[in-house]
Amino acid sequence: QPTYLHDYQPPAHRVTHTELTFDLSPGATRVKARLHLERHPDREDAAESPLVLDGEQLSLKGIAIDGQPLDADEYRVSDTQLTVHRVPERFLLDTEVEIAPEANTALEGLYQSNGMYCTQCEAEGFRRITFYPDRPDVMATFSTTVVGDAQREPVLLSNGNLVERGELPNGRHFVTWEDPHPKPCYLFALVAGNLQKVEDSFTTMSGREVALQIWVEEENLDKTDHAMASLKRAMAWDEQTYGREYDLDLFMIVAVNDFNMGAMENKGLNIFNSAAVLTHPQTATDAAFQRVEGIVAHEYFHNWSGNRVTCRDWFQLSLKEGFTVFRDQCFSADTNSAPVKRIEDVAFFRTAQFAEDAGPTAHPIRPDHYIEITNFYTLTIYEKGAEVVRMLRNLVGWEAFRQGSDRYFERFDGQAVTIEDFVDCMAEASGLDLSQFMRWYSQAGTPEIDAHGEYDYAKAEYHLTLRQRTPATPGQPDKLPLHIPVRLGLVGTKSGEDLRMTLDGEELGRDAVIHLREEEQHFVFTDIAEAPVPSLLRGFSAPVKLRFPYAREDLAFLLTHDSDGFNRWDAGQRLALLALDDLIAAHRNGVEKVMDVRVIEAFRGLLNAETDDKAVLAEMLTLPSEAYIAEQQPVVDVDAIHAARTFVKQSLAVALRDDFLRVYHDNASDAAYAPEPEQIAARSLKNVALSYLMSVEDEEGIELAQRQFSAGHNMTDVRCALTLLTHSSRGDLADPALRLFGEKWAHDPLVMDQWFSIQVTRPQADVLDRLTYLMEHPAFSLKNPNRVRALIGAFAGQNRVNFHRIDGAGYRLLADVVIELNRLNPEIAARIITPLTRWQRFDEQRQALMKAELERIRAEELSPNVFEVVEKALAE
Ligand code: ZN
Repeated sequence: QPTYLHDYQPPAHRVTHTELTFDLSPGATRVKARLHLERHPDREDAAESPLVLDGEQLSLKGIAIDGQPLDADEYRVSDTQLTVHRVPERFLLDTEVEIAPEANTALEGLYQSNGMYCTQCEAEGFRRITFYPDRPDVMATFSTTVVGDAQREPVLLSNGNLVERGELPNGRHFVTWEDPHPKPCYLFALVAGNLQKVEDSFTTMSGREVALQIWVEEENLDKTDHAMASLKRAMAWDEQTYGREYDLDLFMIVAVNDFNMGAMENKGLNIFNSAAVLTHPQTATDAAFQRVEGIVAHEYFHNWSGNRVTCRDWFQLSLKEGFTVFRDQCFSADTNSAPVKRIEDVAFFRTAQFAEDAGPTAHPIRPDHYIEITNFYTLTIYEKGAEVVRMLRNLVGWEAFRQGSDRYFERFDGQAVTIEDFVDCMAEASGLDLSQFMRWYSQAGTPEIDAHGEYDYAKAEYHLTLRQRTPATPGQPDKLPLHIPVRLGLVGTKSGEDLRMTLDGEELGRDAVIHLREEEQHFVFTDIAEAPVPSLLRGFSAPVKLRFPYAREDLAFLLTHDSDGFNRWDAGQRLALLALDDLIAAHRNGVEKVMDVRVIEAFRGLLNAETDDKAVLAEMLTLPSEAYIAEQQPVVDVDAIHAARTFVKQSLAVALRDDFLRVYHDNASDAAYAPEPEQIAARSLKNVALSYLMSVEDEEGIELAQRQFSAGHNMTDVRCALTLLTHSSRGDLADPALRLFGEKWAHDPLVMDQWFSIQVTRPQADVLDRLTYLMEHPAFSLKNPNRVRALIGAFAGQNRVNFHRIDGAGYRLLADVVIELNRLNPEIAARIITPLTRWQRFDEQRQALMKAELERIRAEELSPNVFEVVEKALAE
């Protein structure tokens, strides 16, 4: 029962205005809807078409057209739809339904979290609230009245501006909200409960005053400062960078404990997973502070890229998500260290998105069919979508990009549009032909570039050959060549500097972009006076895998001389990967492991060089993750990878012990915590140094870790110390620290999540018993997505050696959880299953075990979510 892109048709009927009344009550919540409907002018068959509305798990209590109750033979209700056989050209439809928010464990539609009512409607949750054309190309103004118990639900929120409130009999009260901006129903939101607010304000560039409110449970009132500051920065940034101003008098954020994703951009009423909004120096790490800043900005930016201009259908999801992720990435880069932001994003992208693109659920940025759209809120749609927008920005240049963006927002304001509409604006603003570029949106899979270079001394030329190929993905055996911008420099081996480049008589400067459009292209750079090492794909200028036969000496050279900070980091990663390759082979062949001294010397150089960017240095000292190393292997050998990486880390720790100790002490500080770039940089550098020392259980390192654990005044330091103590092989270090921490923070679920994750990511073999035990812990619940991610997700996703235990116990545990979650929360079930779907990457024995678990899941009665993923994973 898939939905296909090529089947798109405008709806036969559209809603111009929506009036909703919610009567909240445990066990019997009533929703009255009055829809102002009319035939759609673009549908010739509209006059003959019945009215078809979406609706699921609704019990219909009344239905009338223009005030006339309908007879039973005038309409039909199925599991998913309400059909009214004959309707006039324009009319009012009144319906009343009963729903059960308290029984809603899927967390889609209207549900309860900690006793408070809240909603999640994107993508198709609104149909669980009332009968409606639940599709993004139906845009209406909304007026919403919420009636609740004055004691239990003193706060009643919805989209837009508050226009009326009042008391009602029986201890009830109501509030009416009006949202003047037409919107699709996926942006509808309602919150009701016992909440407290923190208030601030922002004056927009045209001088309008906007009230800003963050609503939380009382005990979290001290955790909103950072989100509020981030919101104000984001509002100012969007004005300065994109000329976009906020358009209501009120902007609200609500923190909710039970939430499937990070957050949701509902018009004027953003709803956040509490983990994505609450911070306090004592409870949240630097990474969490930065994540909150990014997500607050992301949701705010959606007000234009998503809400004012929205998607025609869900195949266009990346139109709003890719663009908005790109916007939030740039915002975070401007606010913090830009190179580190890029390094973090790319490091994550190359592991997680590349793996998705290489797996059974690979799909293009614009898929052409789906069974369950919630399965498509993916790294491909979001992050690869953002990379494609970034390529566009780089291709057309910022100025044309900004003009294209202005054009897009002006032309399509209040409309639901397509990816072509966006790219057309960029093509018009720049005059560039982007037709070949459009293939990025329709072809799945990660393009691979094989590069070869040769220096011709006699002619003073550098010859570069680039060959591209995109591997087959499910349903797409053959791929066409893409338009790939390759940013590069040629670094002179004598001068150590970027050389001036001339290509086909054209002066390119020292850092330039060349365009790969054919399957294979040959570039001849003339007047190259010295032999260069090419620095390719600078800044990760395209989301591709680039292979070049670098010698280790070349990489060591780029590591110190590349003018592009990103590629300096990448040279270090490549160098480490080459050394790791040798060690993985040694481990498999049972021969003695020998550490490559060139890596040690490169790291010694880094630790002793003058640096003004400690954050980048910390990144450079971080070895490629086990997941990224695995990505490079034809058949993943989890044990060899773990052994090799541990060996490299320990060898570096032994060889450079004094340097790591010095770096630790140089960067320790007693300054009051602030989540600002310099402090964050020093903390990450210090903690990287400590992780090396702890990898060999250095006595002095242990002492430092213990001191940092007990005296640390912020969660970044405390959590790092606790992780290192817990992951050491010594139970006498782990257990007392875990006990102390667990008791101290038992009242704070978001801190307990960290406590769970730290324990289940231990490399020790007993971790599965611990996991089973922790699943019974009072702070754990399968019904809460954050808990599931912290315990099960962290184990299956990050603890590679133990999840892939050769007896299959890790797989079995995950499958058990998926089967249970399939009933409770299909969306989370379909996500948590991911590691099992990657079975093709492993040896035969593990493949068989993983497939057996997938088969066991398939034998259950499955939600569409899990069904779609399992079918793909088991397809031949
Ligand atoms: Zn988004």
